[in-house]
Amino acid sequence: MPDADRPLDQRLSDLHARIRAACLAAGRDPGSCRLLAVSKTRDAGEIRALHALGQADFGENYVQEALPKIAALAGSGIRWHLIGPLQSNKTREVAGHFDWVHSLDREKIARRLNDQRPAHLPPLQVCIQVNIDDEDSKSGLAPGEVEALARVVAGLPRLRLRGLMTIPRPDQPAGHGSAYARLAQTMQHLAGTIPGLDRAAFDTLSMGMSDDFEAAIAHGATWVRIGTALFGPRPPRP
Ligand SMILES: *Cc1c(COP(=O)(O)O)cnc(C)c1O
Repeated sequence: MPDADRPLDQRLSDLHARIRAACLAAGRDPGSCRLLAVSKTRDAGEIRALHALGQADFGENYVQEALPKIAALAGSGIRWHLIGPLQSNKTREVAGHFDWVHSLDREKIARRLNDQRPAHLPPLQVCIQVNIDDEDSKSGLAPGEVEALARVVAGLPRLRLRGLMTIPRPDQPAGHGSAYARLAQTMQHLAGTIPGLDRAAFDTLSMGMSDDFEAAIAHGATWVRIGTALFGPRPPRP
């Protein structure tokens, strides 16, 4: 379990070791799963400290919370990933300031991001969020609805469809392995059916958090999104 008193560099190197070990246990290339540091509620100074240790990818849930941190760390080379819900009145900021969106779940949002992505930036890297097993959550598309959105996104030149993301229901006693296995199956199905898809870039499964990332890696995760095990317990949102 994360020990908030241990130095940050040890927590980071422990996580790298666990990610590598989980990849090897699954017969995967040890570099095939990457760490996304989830920095919601963390300030720019904490992010800077982790970046100085070599961590370049950070995930934020709330656009309004992220923008001041992105401004404070401008020029650092950090890549910013949006992993939380995205409203249409925030798409311009996201298109202008983020590198990735993991939580795309609506055509209207996809079209706005495509129209608003500035010409001087590379295409926005996107994953479609799938609600694989959580009937209570309003985020993410039902598995049967993913293909229609994937077809739209594959045709938008300023977006690059990279794969799928999920947040399994929190209370599942048997663990999240079956949810992660289903997300991987959905991904495989799409890879064979979407016309115009850039298959070489369709390589991303964003799944697994502090408590269950090893199970996600066993099922093919390529980004694990980790907050608590890296930064320690989260303070309440202000
Ligand atoms: C907060 C959050 C995480 C990280 O959760 P931890 O349990 O702190 O590792 C990952 N993904 C999403 C979408 C989150 O909101």
